[in-house]
Amino acid sequence: MSPRNPPAADVSLTHPDRLYWPDEGVTKQALADYYAAVWPFMVPYVVNRPLALLRLPDGIKSQQRFFQKHAWKGMNPHIEEIADPQDADGEKLLRIADFNGLVALVQSAVLEIHPWGVTTDNWEKPDMITMDLDPGEDVAWSAVITAAIELKARLEARGLAAFVKTSGGKGLHVVTPLSPKAGWAEVKDFAHSLAESMSADAPEKYLATATKAKRGGHIYIDYLRNGRGNTAVAAYSTRARPGAPVSMPLDWPDLDEVSGPAAFTLGNVPHRLETRPKDPWGNFFDAAVPLE
Ligand code: ATP
Ligand code: MN
Repeated sequence: MSPRNPPAADVSLTHPDRLYWPDEGVTKQALADYYAAVWPFMVPYVVNRPLALLRLPDGIKSQQRFFQKHAWKGMNPHIEEIADPQDADGEKLLRIADFNGLVALVQSAVLEIHPWGVTTDNWEKPDMITMDLDPGEDVAWSAVITAAIELKARLEARGLAAFVKTSGGKGLHVVTPLSPKAGWAEVKDFAHSLAESMSADAPEKYLATATKAKRGGHIYIDYLRNGRGNTAVAAYSTRARPGAPVSMPLDWPDLDEVSGPAAFTLGNVPHRLETRPKDPWGNFFDAAVPLE
């Protein structure tokens, strides 16, 4: 499926002219069009995963924002409710199965999509690790890139693959595909040890704990996206921030030409995907191995 043949959706948008990013003139319709363009690339990172959703019914300038893990009143039926097998009697979680589900999210003013690092086929065995690099004040962008490359080297030394995306906010996410085998506790312990080893070897650059006081001048390596029920923004998800930035998957060599963590936006990503020869994360799950 090419971006020029967008997938069809049965979900109709009410008020397609509603402004979600008013300063950029980005409407609900424009958001749906963006997701139609990136859908073929985005599918594996958003379909059949428990989702946390950031909804801003009146757009990013509004104080009204809801971070939702559960259904809301009038929710479109293309957003599925699904029981957490470890909490069978608890409130159901949310999932989408197809492009209709994604358009239903747009219709509901979901401006950020945060999946778990697991599919609902295999809830106890994560299929990715996300390491989140959060630079403190006064940290140069080039230092964030260096940190990502160091993480990649450490992951590869362990026989694991490493992919990189912008967060669309302040930093980079280094993401490792896993064959589902290790459980949540093992995956989180591994992510923790990785962050600790970076910090132990270069304490002047890296922190593995969220001690805000020391954050200035350091990069915080947040491994806490990797516990059961934790989330990280999806590849290609928009962010509810000025400029309509997106979390953009990149090839490692591309990092050198990227001006910053919010360089990719709803406005420029579809053209980039259409004019580049390949999907930067095209072999993501082919590169998965079990965490041993
Ligand atoms: P940045 O580059 O700005 O750090 P990020 O995507 O790495 O962006 P945040 O957007 O700050 O980080 O998200 C931090 C964590 O909190 C993520 O796990 C995300 O899923 C979760 N999260 C995001 N927004 C909310 C919210 N409103 N309430 C609760 N959790 C949230
Ligand atoms: Mn971050």
